[in-house]
Amino acid sequence: MIRLNEPALLANHSYINGAWVKKDTTFDVTNPASGVVLAQVSNGDGQDAEAAVAAAKAALPAWAAKSANERAAILRKWFNLMMEHQHDLGVIMTAEQGKPLAESKGEIAYGAAFVDWYAEEGKRIYGDTIPGPASDKRIIVLKQPIGVVAAITPWNFPSSMITRKAAPALAAGCTFIIKPASETPLSALALAQLAEMAGIPKGVFNVVTGTNSRAIGEVLTTSPDVAKFSFTGSTPVGRKLYEQCAGTIKKVSLELGGNAPFIVFDDADLDAAVQGALASKYRNAGQTCVCANRFLVQRSVYDTFAEKLEAAVAEFQLGDGMDEGVTMGPLITKKAMDDVHALVEQSVAQGAQVVVGGQPHALGGNYYQPTIMKNVSNSMAIAANEIFGPVAPLIPFDTEEELIAMANDTEYGLAAYFYSRDIGRIWRVAEGLEYGMVGINEGIISNAAAPFGGVKSSGLGREGSKYGIEDFLEIKYLCLGGLNK
Ligand code: NAP
Repeated sequence: MIRLNEPALLANHSYINGAWVKKDTTFDVTNPASGVVLAQVSNGDGQDAEAAVAAAKAALPAWAAKSANERAAILRKWFNLMMEHQHDLGVIMTAEQGKPLAESKGEIAYGAAFVDWYAEEGKRIYGDTIPGPASDKRIIVLKQPIGVVAAITPWNFPSSMITRKAAPALAAGCTFIIKPASETPLSALALAQLAEMAGIPKGVFNVVTGTNSRAIGEVLTTSPDVAKFSFTGSTPVGRKLYEQCAGTIKKVSLELGGNAPFIVFDDADLDAAVQGALASKYRNAGQTCVCANRFLVQRSVYDTFAEKLEAAVAEFQLGDGMDEGVTMGPLITKKAMDDVHALVEQSVAQGAQVVVGGQPHALGGNYYQPTIMKNVSNSMAIAANEIFGPVAPLIPFDTEEELIAMANDTEYGLAAYFYSRDIGRIWRVAEGLEYGMVGINEGIISNAAAPFGGVKSSGLGREGSKYGIEDFLEIKYLCLGGLNK
C-alpha cells in the first residue's frame, strides 16, 4: 500500500487530452523492495498514442499563442505543486523504484527545478537581426516552438527525466506526450495530476502508459504530426528509435548509456575522492547513467584509496527505502540483479579480486551487496559495459597519458570524474577527456542550470540550462526587402 497525504496523486490510467483513459487490460506495478503489487495500471497501446498525438496537435496553436509570461505563470504553479507534494511524490517514487525516500525527495526537487528554470528561460527566447547583404534588405530571425514533442523515459529517474524534457518543451510553446517506463508509471501519472491542478490546458501534457513500448514508440517516432522526439534510456533502444525517426526527419534528442571513468590522481584529496565516489557510484544503488563505472586510480594511491573506500562502503544500510536509516535500496528487478552478479562473476573468473561484497545480499529479492573489486583491467567486460549496480571495479594506472587513453577507450562519452589538485593537470585532463560532462573534484554534477548530455554513443543534444530549450525551437528567417522604394 502507498499511503499519501493527497491520495488523488495515485492515478492508474493514461492521461490523454485532459482525461483519464481506462483500458480493459492492465499491468502490475510492483515494489522492488518487496515484490508487492502496488497498482494495476491501464495498459495503453498504439491507438492511445495516436489519440495523444491528435490531442497534442489540437492543443498546440492555443498553447503556442500564449505569451511566455502566461505559460511561465502556469509552469510556476506546476513547480509549486510539485514542491508542496514533494513528500507524497517521493513516497510514490520509493514505492515503485526502490531508492531511499531521501533520494526520491531529492529527485523531486531536482526535477521540479527544471520547471522553475524553464518557466523563466521561456521569457528569454531571443531572436536576432542581422545586417543584410544589400541596403534595401533586413534579415530577421525568429525562434518559434517546434510543435508536438514526444518522449520516452526510463525507470531510474521516474520523475526528473520527464520534467527535464517537458519543462523546456512547454515553456517554448510546444505540446507534449510522454511514455514512461513500465516499471515506474505512477510518478509520471502523479505529474499529470499536478499538471491538471496547475491549469495546464487539456492536450498540452499527455501521458501514455503501457507495456507495449514498441507499438507506442512506433507511433511516437513515425507520426508526421510529431516534430521532435526525445529519448532517455539505453543506447541499443535509442539507436533503434533514432532510425525510426528518420522516415519523418524529426529533430531527435538522445540521452543514452554511459561508462563513466572516476579518476583519482596521486595528488588528490583522497577523503574528498571517497566522498565523491560514494555519491557517484552508489547513489540509486548504482543505477544512474552518470554512475562511476570504472575507478582509474594512480598506482601509488591505489591501495590507500581502496582501504578508505572500503571503510566508507561498510556504512551502507540496505533495505526498504521507506525505512528509517536505509541508505541503499534494491535493484529494480531480479534480472537486473542477476546481470550485475554475472558481470562480477565473469571478472572474478578473469582474475579480479573481490575486496568487499560480490554476492546477492542476505536480504534476498533484488538486493545486491555494495561491492569493491581490485585487480581489474580496462579490457574486462565489467569495464566495458554499463554495470548498473553497486559495484566499483578499481583499475590502476601509472601515467597521465596512459590514463587519458584508458578513460577514452569506450564507445560511450557521457560523464567523467577526476580528482587532482594540480591546476595544470586539471586543464590538460579536462580538455583531453572525450565526455559531455566532467566532474572535477566533484561527484554530483547534475542541476537545472547546467547542460546535461553526452558525446559518442551516449547521445545527442543537451538538457537543462539555456542550451536545453534550443532543441524545442525552430529558427525562422525573415528577409525584409524593398526598403529603398
Ligand atoms: P531502456 O530499456 O532503453 O528503456 C527506456 C525506455 O524505453 C522505457 O520507457 C522502455 O519502455 C522504452 N522502450 C524499450 N524498448 C523500446 C522500443 N523498442 N520502442 C519504444 N520504447 C522502448 O532503458 P532502461 O533500462 O529503462 O534505463 C536504463 C538506461 O537508461 C541505461 O542505459 C542508462 O544509462 C540510461 N539513462 C540515460 C540517462 C541520460 O540522461 N543519458 C539518464 C537515465 C538513464 P518499457 O519500460 O515499457 O519497456
